[in-house]
Amino acid sequence: MVSRVIPVDPFDLVIFGGTGDLARRKILPGLYRRFRDGQMPEGVSIVGAARSEFDDDGYRAFVAEALAEFLPKAKLEPKAVKGFLDLLGYIAVDATGKDGWAELAGRMRKGVVQAFYFSVGPSLFGALAERLHKHKIAGADARIVVEKPFGHDLESAKALNATLAKHFHETQIYRIDHYLGKETVQNLMAVRFGNMLFEPLWKNQYIDHVQITVAETVGVGGRGAYYDKSGAMRDMVQNHLMQLLCLIAMEPPSKFDPDAVRDEKLKVIRALKPVEHEHIVRGQYRAGDGTPSYVEDAENPDSLTESFIAMKVHLANWRWNGTPFYLRTGKRMKARHSEIVVRFKEPPHSIFEEDTGQSANELRIRLQPNEGMDLTVTIKEPGPGGMRLIDVPLDMTFADALGEEASDVPDAYERLIMDVIRGNQTLFMRGDEVEAAWAWTDPIIGEWTEREDRPLRYDAGSTGPEEALILMHRDGRRWRELSS
Ligand code: NAP
Repeated sequence: MVSRVIPVDPFDLVIFGGTGDLARRKILPGLYRRFRDGQMPEGVSIVGAARSEFDDDGYRAFVAEALAEFLPKAKLEPKAVKGFLDLLGYIAVDATGKDGWAELAGRMRKGVVQAFYFSVGPSLFGALAERLHKHKIAGADARIVVEKPFGHDLESAKALNATLAKHFHETQIYRIDHYLGKETVQNLMAVRFGNMLFEPLWKNQYIDHVQITVAETVGVGGRGAYYDKSGAMRDMVQNHLMQLLCLIAMEPPSKFDPDAVRDEKLKVIRALKPVEHEHIVRGQYRAGDGTPSYVEDAENPDSLTESFIAMKVHLANWRWNGTPFYLRTGKRMKARHSEIVVRFKEPPHSIFEEDTGQSANELRIRLQPNEGMDLTVTIKEPGPGGMRLIDVPLDMTFADALGEEASDVPDAYERLIMDVIRGNQTLFMRGDEVEAAWAWTDPIIGEWTEREDRPLRYDAGSTGPEEALILMHRDGRRWRELSS
């Protein structure tokens, strides 16, 4: 199979926070890969911008180290690395100061796409937007890329939207949720809307429930102080899990166009019912075998912040009435495992004997590990012994089905950055979507704060508090096993 790499237009990309962790781990290695694969035409310029003092050569050396650290050796082709480093420059600027801005203005070219990646803390987003405007650095079609977290609650998200809107039109603002850049997540839309097979069944009549799990084995160490002010609800549910839920639950948009897709996602968020307290399980990890507890990681012995959450949510619309969505995310869990499970109902009447082994179909969309999809179907167990049934997965793992090239698909960040350059906002969150998501989560968090809700303790390396299992058992259902 031959993959098609379509070069983008020439561009100037400025990475504010070009010396930070995200730039080193994701943005720059991703850009290198797009360059290596021939997606960047002649006339691309990438400028790192932060307070640290570097000249262009110093920054190239810094980026070369990051590539060596975060890319497999086999991907580091010396000619490609050199070609990529030649595109790079650096300008020292302080987002809140005066220096460097005139020089940055001088580096920007006319007649090419302009993009500014705000890979800095959110408190600097407003200052950057203002200075780009004041120093006339950003042209009328320039794009800004804004990292998470987008606000801390509805009020702060509204304020941030308003600040950005002073200088940039909504069509210029790209709010990143990297989950939307994952190959499988986009494939979910292709599977739903590109086939006749699934959509007629995609409703409460045929789907028993949906599970969305994002489990991590790491704790919050290293960013404990930040995380402690946030928690799993703000850090994961309000954005990533909510976006996945939207893609599963939304109505078919009339076309694959940014506003058509985002209008449908917004309707899903607005249809979320308030969640009852007994349908939420909050947890905090204990110390494990050689790993510190959450409160040690957060350096806050009295912390009431959750590092785990499981919840049952319902949508108030015709399609999903009565079909629950179970969401679950946590740190220091048994396995690094993210997936969406769509569990269909059992056939209305079984013609087979009760103990033959028949069960319901399941569509699994795996985000990690082993990105791909599979659909379990019930078939006859081959061989003698009468009519015995087994479930087998119809595996749609890309690498198996599409060959080796499919296992080297662009990572979420590189795909999303190329979408920014192309001016395609489909996989980015619109301001009203983000606000609607906060409007749903704020009352839940507000209630915890009011009642000083204590998260349940769970063992590091487990599946979270036992109550999360009970949440499903009560409904006669169970979570799929976490496996790495
Ligand atoms: P980081 O490692 O702390 O880097 C922050 C960057 O901002 C550095 O390059 C820093 O460089 C620069 N900076 C700080 N103050 C500045 C100022 N006044 N003017 C100009 N530059 C300034 O943070 P990060 O982990 O890369 O995260 C960046 C953003 O991405 C944050 O919004 C974060 O929430 C988000 N994010 C990060 C990750 C991740 O995996 N790291 C994942 C999702 C979202 P100097 O010190 O040289 O100025």
